[in-house]
Amino acid sequence: MADCLFCKIAVGSIPSERVEETERVLAFRDINPAAPTHVLLIPKEHVADSAAQIRSEHGEMLAELFELAARIAEDEHLADGWRLVTNVGAGAGQSVFHLHMHLLGGRPFGWPPG
Ligand code: 5GP
Ligand code: ZN
Repeated sequence: MADCLFCKIAVGSIPSERVEETERVLAFRDINPAAPTHVLLIPKEHVADSAAQIRSEHGEMLAELFELAARIAEDEHLADGWRLVTNVGAGAGQSVFHLHMHLLGGRPFGWPPG
């Protein structure tokens, strides 16, 4: 999508601190981290604005995303626990409308979330 921040990060026209990538998924550090580890995982293609638009055809990409998240959690030594979050809609805190998941770790998290 022409005017999408994460599409621009995916192709590198906006710089980011990349962590790892696979064929379909890119992981990079959040510019405003909410935890010692705060990595964003995005499909490189703009397949959905949010999780509300996920369809079965996205299954392989999502499996890749979850597998990559677990690998990064291991690399970042998050054995105590980590969290994957996806915000859907402005009311839930979504500010970038390109599907993404937050990988958070490195500090304790409460439940239920605030
Ligand atoms: P959302 O609020 O949509 O769930 O998450 C968007 C995330 O993108 C936020 O945590 C925000 O800090 C992060 N973000 C916004 N702009 C940029 C940017 O230009 N670069 C990086 N690396 N992260 C960004
Ligand atoms: Zn996009």
